[in-house]
Amino acid sequence: MSSEVFFIKDVKEEKLEALLEHAGVGDLTGVVALKMHMGERNNRTFVKPAFIKPIVEAVKKHGGRPFITDTTTIYKEKRYTAMDYYETAFAHGFLPSSLGCPVLIADGLKDDGVPVSEHVEIAKSIYESDSMLVISHATGHCASSFGGALKNVAMGCVTKKTKKYQHEVTRPVLNRDLCTDCDKCREVCKHHAISEAHLINLDECVGCGACIAVCESHALSTPPDMSPNLQKRLAEVASIVLHALPYTNLLYINFLIDITPFCDCAEFAPEYLCPDIGVLASRDIVAVDMATIEMIKTEKFDGDPTIQVREAHRLGLGELDYEIVEI
Ligand code: SF4
Ligand code: SF4
Repeated sequence: MSSEVFFIKDVKEEKLEALLEHAGVGDLTGVVALKMHMGERNNRTFVKPAFIKPIVEAVKKHGGRPFITDTTTIYKEKRYTAMDYYETAFAHGFLPSSLGCPVLIADGLKDDGVPVSEHVEIAKSIYESDSMLVISHATGHCASSFGGALKNVAMGCVTKKTKKYQHEVTRPVLNRDLCTDCDKCREVCKHHAISEAHLINLDECVGCGACIAVCESHALSTPPDMSPNLQKRLAEVASIVLHALPYTNLLYINFLIDITPFCDCAEFAPEYLCPDIGVLASRDIVAVDMATIEMIKTEKFDGDPTIQVREAHRLGLGELDYEIVEI
């Protein structure tokens, strides 16, 4: 079986509307979560409010009541709390007055989630919506090779507890023999997860990798098989989230523009993986991510970006085969 993936080359307002109509935006009823990533402060490649406004209007045209949403981060930067995130979102132009709908941080002021399994809590406002449009910026990723719709759901629709569960597999490995006790890792660790003896407290570590980046002697490194393991956790959590949501009206739209090697959590993009391609939309999260990877070209990514997609297919989230329908 194959799934339809709708495609536009030109990212223009009328084209975006036509794309959404073909993909079934009319089925997004009631309160509609527009789940996106509004960019870490100083990131410049997140999906811009100018592209979100026609999406908001398309949802409203069919009677849906949209709100733009995301969750707070596990790492301590400018989206760590809801208040931090509102300031960053507004600085990036996500203003309710210009977009015509509310902006709501889905895990609220207190990292509020609905537990749906041992490790997974869905951010409350996403769980309590009536339908969801997952808006993803397709990028490479330093830990998961690729970030698209699956990652947006797995890492983006959940509380800090569930983000931490996924990041367990990115926690650094220490080779004590190479350590020079320079203390640089302790200086950058905002989670106080490194002891004076430079041992890592795994309960406190959130796997952000900041210490690895500053360890000049390579005493700290990423764990073996980090990317496959993280991709499998992404698929596992996405599956739990999508099966536990009390609604099935879901649509996925991937922007294949400003395609950077790192995700929008990175402050700046040093280069692009490839020129802009367009926008894809589908009801099938597996098909839309597979089409995204193959349009960018699998070999452009660091490692195998399809592990998460194949695992999501195995878990019943969608089809690996797709048919591109150009609008
Ligand atoms: S940065 Fe590396 S070398 Fe320096 S104390 Fe930490 S682990 Fe040891
Ligand atoms: S120990 Fe390293 S990876 Fe863990 S939280 Fe601290 S800086 Fe991040």
